[in-house]
This record gives sequence, structure tokens and C-alpha cells, in this order.
Amino acid sequence: MSEPALLEVRALDVHFPVRGPGLLPSRLTLRAIDQVSFDVRAGEVLGVVGESGCGKSTLSRALLKLIPATAGSVRLRGVELTTLPKAAMRPLRRSMQMIFQDPLASLDPRMTVGEIIAEPLKALLPGMERAEREQRVLRTMQHVGLLPAQINRYPHEFSGGQAQRIGIARALVVQPQLVVCDEPVSALDVSIKSQIINLLLDLRAEHGLTYIFVAHDLATVRHIADRVMVLYLGRVMEITDRDALYARPLHPYTRLLLSAVPIPDPALARRVGPTREELPSPLALPSGCAFRTRCPLADARCVAERPVLREIDGRYVACHHAEAAAA
Ligand code: SF4
Repeated sequence: MSEPALLEVRALDVHFPVRGPGLLPSRLTLRAIDQVSFDVRAGEVLGVVGESGCGKSTLSRALLKLIPATAGSVRLRGVELTTLPKAAMRPLRRSMQMIFQDPLASLDPRMTVGEIIAEPLKALLPGMERAEREQRVLRTMQHVGLLPAQINRYPHEFSGGQAQRIGIARALVVQPQLVVCDEPVSALDVSIKSQIINLLLDLRAEHGLTYIFVAHDLATVRHIADRVMVLYLGRVMEITDRDALYARPLHPYTRLLLSAVPIPDPALARRVGPTREELPSPLALPSGCAFRTRCPLADARCVAERPVLREIDGRYVACHHAEAAAA
């Protein structure tokens, strides 16, 4: 039997009004997230991948209600978050935490490491005694590989990788169930990247965590994700178990992303089709399939009809011609 869903997202929209160009500008709508649906099972790592501008960061923030959803549903263990009043959201904030992309920029330079890690405890568990809070901070520092002696240091005294450990400790100190990792390794050197990914995997095993792990390339999520969701211009293109996705990508956009990953298997490399071209403006989405302006398989149906996300061989793909790729 499959794991129950910890998070259920259905038909989520996040739209922003934008002023158009010109002397008498019209009001345009930026569809940053457009009818996105997916589940995250308890204990899994869902990788979310797409190029810059595909809506990954907007999605991360909307899931945690840091920006409002325009429409749709986000349920955490069955509790609808999009309509939840601020006061009722507060206790749930302990269950959902975020790790940010740029570790040094996301940490207050005027606060010590101890103060930075203790801050969410003070906000979300105000009744906790000071001594217990200090113990929790020290324990969490130890879990992420920081030394107790570093508690009174400031962020600028740390390398990027060490600073990200502080960011991870700050997220984990309130003992969340779900952690949204918004490109947590993209600003780090290659060797440090793998250290942080291994740390996140160890922490998941020790504490039973669930991650949504966002990255702009498929190579990064390969080592951490159980399943991968591919986003393009705010829409879901494919959701598939990791091994199936890398062995046999069904969506042409997934194949485009895989073309940036070195592929040792020549047979698979031949199946990797389209070349890279410019991402269309999210303010002027193509009709029908959002990917059709870059897709070598696009035909009249792709211009006229938006493909829905549908199940094929236990995978979810939004492409009119996915059966051909699956055959
Ligand atoms: S629906 Fe058409 S344009 Fe879109 S990915 Fe599939 S084949 Fe390409």
C-alpha cells in the first residue's frame, strides 16, 4: 500500500497583476503557477525541477502561505491552508519550514548563530523555557554538524556550506514534518553541494522528515529525490519516480532538461531530442501546450488544446503525444 499523502495540492493558481508597457499600460496577468496539482507522501523527497522563471520559488512560497494563492487547494494532513486565518496558521508553521537558496543572504548578519537558530523557537514555541531552548539549539547544531563553540559566532565568519548548515538548523529546530528546500545547494561549490545533500538525507533518515527539494537541473535532484516533478512556465509537465524519469523521460521538456545532464547510455542520449531555445515570456503564454514553441513534436493539436496531466504507466505526463514516447 502506498504512503498516505502528507501534502495535497490541487489546481493551485498563483497569479500576479502586472502593468503592461506603453503610455496607457494595460493590466496583464502573470500566471506564475497555473493549475498545479500534486501530492507529497510522508517521508519522501519530491524533487521540483525547471529552468529559472518556471515558478519553482513562487510555488515554494505559496505552499507555506508566504504568498497568497489565487485559487486552488493546499492541504497539510487534510487541513486546508489557503483559507486558514493567520492565527490558525501559526501552529501549523511548526510543521512546515523552509531552507533558502542563498545561505548568507538569508541569515541576519547582526545576530549570532545561537540567536538565529533560536528565533523560530521563540516565535512558534513562546512558552518554552530558556534553558530548554538553549539545549534544543545546541542539539540541533550538533545534528547539522556545527560545533557548540560556534554558537556565539556571526554568519560572516562562516563559509557558504557552513552557513547553509545554520539555515538547515534554523528550519529543523522546531521539529517540522515537511521542509521545503528552495534551491538550497545552487549557490554552493560542487564538493559542498554533495555534503549538504548527504546531510539532508541523513537528517531525513534520523528525524523522519519529508522534503520538497527545488532545483533548476535534474542532475542535482537525482541524488536526493524519490520522485521528480517537472515544471514549465508554472505548469506541471511530468511527475514520475526518479529512476523511471532518468531511464525513460516521457515529456519532451524533461528530455530537454536531461540533455543538460551527461548521459553515459548512448541509446538514451539519442532519445534526448530538442535543442535549447528561449523560454517564452510568462506574460504571453503560447496557446495550447506551453512548451509547443520549443517542442520538436508540436502539431496543430498542441497549438489548439492544452494537454492535461494524465496517468500513463503509473506516471503523470501532460503531453498529447506521451503514449508515443512510452511505447
Ligand atoms: S503536447 Fe505537443 S507541444 Fe506539448 S510537449 Fe507534447 S508534443 Fe510537445
